[in-house]
Amino acid sequence: MSERLLQSSRVAVVGGGLAGLAAGCALAGSGFRVTLFERRPYLGGRASSYQHPGTREVVDNCQHVLLGCCTNLIQFYERLGVENKIRWYDRLTFLEPGGRVSVIAPSELPAPFHNAPAFLRAACLDLSDKLAIGMAMAALATAAPRDCGEAFLTWLHRHAQTKQAIERFWKPVLVSALNEDLDRMSVPYAAQVVRESFLKSAAAGRMGVPTVPLTELYSVAGDYIASRGGEIRLRSSVESFLPESDDVKLLVSGEQTSFDYVVLAVPFDVLSRLLPQVPAAEPLRKVLARFETSPITGIHLWFDRQITDLEHAVLLDRTIQWMFHKSKLLGRDQNASGSYVELVVSSSKTLVEKSRAEIIELAVAELREFFPGARDAILVKSTVIKEIHATYSPQPGVDAYRPGSETVWPRIFLAGDWTATGWPATMEGAVRSGYLAAESIVRAAGMKDAAFLVPNLPASGFMRLFG
Ligand SMILES: Cc1cc2nc3c(=O)[nH]c(=O)nc-3n(C[C@H](O)[C@H](O)[C@H](O)COP(=O)(O)OP(=O)(O)OC[C@H]3O[C@@H](n4cnc5c(N)ncnc54)[C@H](O)[C@@H]3O)c2cc1C
Repeated sequence: MSERLLQSSRVAVVGGGLAGLAAGCALAGSGFRVTLFERRPYLGGRASSYQHPGTREVVDNCQHVLLGCCTNLIQFYERLGVENKIRWYDRLTFLEPGGRVSVIAPSELPAPFHNAPAFLRAACLDLSDKLAIGMAMAALATAAPRDCGEAFLTWLHRHAQTKQAIERFWKPVLVSALNEDLDRMSVPYAAQVVRESFLKSAAAGRMGVPTVPLTELYSVAGDYIASRGGEIRLRSSVESFLPESDDVKLLVSGEQTSFDYVVLAVPFDVLSRLLPQVPAAEPLRKVLARFETSPITGIHLWFDRQITDLEHAVLLDRTIQWMFHKSKLLGRDQNASGSYVELVVSSSKTLVEKSRAEIIELAVAELREFFPGARDAILVKSTVIKEIHATYSPQPGVDAYRPGSETVWPRIFLAGDWTATGWPATMEGAVRSGYLAAESIVRAAGMKDAAFLVPNLPASGFMRLFG
C-alpha cells in the first residue's frame, strides 16, 4: 500500500494506557492517521501520576519497576527518547525485621550461576533453604514447565522447598512480580519470572526504576503521536462502537465519528460493557467474564528526616513487601531534610477492607522494625492508594482464555496487558499487546508485514543450552 493511501487510513485507539500508547506510536510512526481517545485528563492509564488532593504532592498511582528483559518497553522508551529517565540497579537488598541485610547481585560467573555467590552469602536463608532453592532453580533452568492446572505453591511443595525458602525467597520475588498469591499463580508465569530475572543473564535481571513521575514519562507518547499528524483527545470517553463493512463508528462523549480501524486498548471489564448486544460478540463476552483481578496497595509516607540511605529494599516476613525511597529516586532530597518513601504491598487482599488510618499505622510500625532511623522520625503526611483491580490474576489455565489482537470484526483489534502476549500483567505485556495490535492493523491494511515486536534478550552463558 502506498504512503499516500496509508496517510488516509484513520485509526482510532481507545485507551491511553501503555497498550494504547504503544499501538498509537507504532501506527503513527508508520504513516497511519491516529486519533487516541482517553477518558481521563492524562495519559498512562494504570501507570500514571497525578497531583494528589490530600497531600498536594505529585504521586504515582503506584511505584512501577521494569526488568532488563522488558525489551519492548525499553524499545518504546527509546522510540520516545525517554530511556535516560530510567535508573538501573544490579543489586537487590533483602532486609529482615531488625535490619539484617542480604544482597543479591550478579558476579562474573556465567549464567545461570551469576547470582550463586550472592545467594550462598545471603544471611536471610539457611543452607537447607539454599539447597532447596538451587534444586528448584535447576528444574526451572533446564525446561520451561507447561500449564497443567497446578498452582505454583503446589509445584514448590513437590520440589521440596522449605518453609523459609518459600517465605523469604519465592514469595517476595513472585508475589510482587505477578501480583498474585503463590497458591493462585500459574506455574509457567512463575517459571518465566525466575528464568528471566535470575537465570537467563545478568542483563535480563537488572531492575529499572523511573526517575520522573509516570505521567511525565508517558505523556511524551502523546507528543510523539501528535507530531506525526495524530490527535490526542483527553477527557473523551468512548461509549460504544459499531462495526460496519467499510468502517467502524465510535460514539465518543455523545458524538459519532467513523474510522477505518479501531484498537480497543481498554481493561477487560470496560470492553465487556462496550461490546454491542449482537450474537457475534457473545464468545468474546464469555471469555472476558472469566478474568479475575488482584489488588495492589501503595502507602506513601513523608517523614521529617531521612530514615535510610537505601534507594529501595525488599522487606521480609511482614505485610509490607517493598520500600522505595522516592525522594532519592526522584532526586527531590538535595536540599531538603525530610524524605518521601513509598511502601508497596502486592496481592494486598488483606488490606482491601482496612481503613487508610489502619494501613498507615501498620505500615509505619513495620517500617520501624526494618529501619532504626524511622523510629524517632515524625510522619509529616501520608496517603494510601488502593488499586483494587490492579491487574488480572495470572491463575493456572489463564492463557486458555486470553484473546489475541484480532476479533470477529476485521476492522477492530484488541490490546491490553490482559490479552494473549505470553507475558503477565506488566508494562512490558501492555506494550507488547499494543505492538501486536499495530502489526495486525498493518496486515489488515494490506501493507507488507511491519514488525514492531522486539525479540527477547538472548540467553547467556550455559543458559544458551536451554534457550
Ligand atoms: C498498583 C499497580 C502497580 C503496578 N506495578 C507494576 C510494576 O511495577 N511493573 C510493571 O511492569 N507493571 C506494573 N503494573 C501493571 C501495569 O501498570 C499495567 O500492566 C499496564 O499499565 C496496563 O496498561 P494497559 O494499557 O493494558 O491498561 P490501562 O493502563 O488500564 O489503560 C487503559 C486505558 O483506557 C482508558 N479507558 C477506559 N475506558 C475508556 C473509555 N470508555 N474511553 C476511553 N478511554 C478509556 C483508561 O482510563 C486507561 O487509561 C502495576 C499496576 C498497578 C495498578
